[in-house]
Amino acid sequence: MKSNQPQHRYHNSNQHRPRPHQQTGVQVTLGQRFPLTIKRLGINGEGIGYFKRKLVFVKGALPNEVIVAEVTGIKPSFLTAKVHRLKAPSSDRVKPRDDYAGEVGGFELEHLAYPAQLAFKRDVVLQSLEKFQPKGYRNFQLKPTIGMDNPYAYRNKAQFQVRRDADGHVIAGLYRERSHDLVDLKTCSVQMPATMRVMRGVVDLMEALDVSTYDEKTGTGLVRTVVVRVAEGTGEVQVVFVTAKAPFPQEAEMVDQLLTKFPEVVSIMQNINNDKTSLIWGEKTKLLAGKPQIREVLNGLQFNLSARAFLQLNPYQTVRLYDEALKALALSDNETVIDAYSGVGTIGLSIAHAAKEVRGMDVIADAVDDANENARINGIDNVRYETGTAETIIPKWLNEGFTPDALIVDPPRTGLDDGLINAILSAKPKKFVYISCNPSTLARDLVKLTKQYHVDYIQSVDMMPQTARCEAVVKFTRA
Ligand code: SAH
Repeated sequence: MKSNQPQHRYHNSNQHRPRPHQQTGVQVTLGQRFPLTIKRLGINGEGIGYFKRKLVFVKGALPNEVIVAEVTGIKPSFLTAKVHRLKAPSSDRVKPRDDYAGEVGGFELEHLAYPAQLAFKRDVVLQSLEKFQPKGYRNFQLKPTIGMDNPYAYRNKAQFQVRRDADGHVIAGLYRERSHDLVDLKTCSVQMPATMRVMRGVVDLMEALDVSTYDEKTGTGLVRTVVVRVAEGTGEVQVVFVTAKAPFPQEAEMVDQLLTKFPEVVSIMQNINNDKTSLIWGEKTKLLAGKPQIREVLNGLQFNLSARAFLQLNPYQTVRLYDEALKALALSDNETVIDAYSGVGTIGLSIAHAAKEVRGMDVIADAVDDANENARINGIDNVRYETGTAETIIPKWLNEGFTPDALIVDPPRTGLDDGLINAILSAKPKKFVYISCNPSTLARDLVKLTKQYHVDYIQSVDMMPQTARCEAVVKFTRA
């Protein structure tokens, strides 16, 4: 087995790190097979090994495994391969609960024992720091990932594409990776049971009522996507039909039957998206039945949620994530706070009681309306949300003389805009916390932020068990 590890002869202790500048000119052909030892998991959860010093990404392979790899792609700085044969499996390898786990996106780690998944999520932060090397990163304290006791049945939203299969039956699920081949997900171990129960009910009704489904090739047909979201705190469920056009011939029947069969469904919406695009949502959303929002409860506060508003997908871990953020912020009574990238105001409203004033913003107008309404519902009068981007609104507030004592940012995967980073560096709020859902952009942003801030620690929180996704809270102090 040892003879299968030529990379050991070439690499020092940094051997696990991708080094794209190492062009070896090694001759490989597609389909070529060779033994490979997996060293680490890459940021997308793929196994990483080295073949004649060339980096090889192998989907589904785990650290310490010895495999026979088969080359599936050749790029200047790396190879991709699949597992042709597993010679020595990892002791952390487990049987995935979902048969299709290796096929569709979002189940990258279902074959890895949960404690090893948690270790991976801390390691991903480390890998990203090693790649971007922000100032002092070797001394950053990376705390062990906070995980779940039961890392299944946590997703509060199912957003499934809906099509017809070759036999004309309605199917709903996710695409096979890198394809538009839809896999019908009849069960899903990470979804909250209510989301799947209602989703399958919708599929059955679409079939029974002969509702037309979208055809991507021709751009014809009606229903493109069905979104089912459950509020964990109240059990309320919202169903959204994303359709290619407005007329929905079976609307009355569909609504009637859904409401009868599923008393937990309190909101049925239609969103119209007639673009030939892979974006899910169109601009127009209309109410078909019930109320336009569902009500969630987090940390004892009530949150109304519109169809398009973002909410963390894992309600059980959201509370832990926010607790970490609040702990890191360590507010005292008379401080002003900015809750940037606020969604429906869940973070800002959770800290309002400990602050003098909270302001926040989000680009989605519906979410901002929800946030202001949520303040009202909870009797909180020291918060204010505005619609717009963080990179325009924060500089505007600073210009108007509102310099916050504390800033919390929770951006999407793209991270922080440069203009926003510059505004933060010049305003230098005393307290600053960054919640990141993408360690790569976090590490990139830290290169700039560490000019003015020390990183006290990074706390990873597992919001998405069984996936390679990683969330982290960074606590800074002003340098
Ligand atoms: N803090 C919220 C939402 C975090 S998700 C929560 O915990 O639920 C990120 C949010 O950023 C989304 O609501 C998205 O609509 C918003 N967003 C995306 N780009 C933005 C930008 N440039 N400025 C402000 N908000 C943005």
